[in-house]
Amino acid sequence: MNYHIAKYLLGAAKLTQLPDDQGIEVAFAGRSNAGKSSALNTLTQQKSLARTSKTPGRTQLINVFTLDDDRRLIDLPGYGYAKVPEAMKLQWQAELSRYLQQRKCLRGLVLLMDIRHFLKDSDQEMLVWAAEVGLPVHCLLSKSDKLSQGAKSKAVLQCKKALSELHPKATVQAFSSLKRVGLDQLYAVLDQWYAI
Ligand code: GDP
Repeated sequence: MNYHIAKYLLGAAKLTQLPDDQGIEVAFAGRSNAGKSSALNTLTQQKSLARTSKTPGRTQLINVFTLDDDRRLIDLPGYGYAKVPEAMKLQWQAELSRYLQQRKCLRGLVLLMDIRHFLKDSDQEMLVWAAEVGLPVHCLLSKSDKLSQGAKSKAVLQCKKALSELHPKATVQAFSSLKRVGLDQLYAVLDQWYAI
């Protein structure tokens, strides 16, 4: 699959504004600041496909990018931002869980987590929702350039162990947008999910 041809299609404020539930979607999710936009830009080799500087707390959209007529990349709103009012957080959570649990064309979820702070409560919640409906999850431990090789391997192992409780089929890898580390592994997972 050629990911460089990704093109912005629309931003949906509600699930009803998404394209028809057909074809194949792969969604990217993560806490605010986890490095999701950077990962999407690295993956597609487009500098500003997903904006990397956002105003936290303002109304968030589910951004949809097309790869071809049948395949889409979905950029889910970053969650877990401390300054967002509780009511808004609950609303996003409900919307996210509905998307993960009801979207038939959703083939897999890429979950971005900072390699130094992975599996926060909100990440665990995403994993549990995905596990409930048997949705495959691939975790990217982002900003891996911040750690030494040894610490990086240790983090991946620790995360794997914790995942075995939350979502036994979830996979995990280290990733760095800055150093472009882990891209081939990510492409291999995506290619598998996008295969018809
Ligand atoms: P998002 O909120 O999840 O979309 O996160 P962003 O992609 O906007 O990244 C949040 C911050 O982390 C920004 O300051 C990025 O420059 C930084 N960042 C993202 N990816 C990397 C990476 O691979 N390495 C390092 N060192 N910093 C990164």
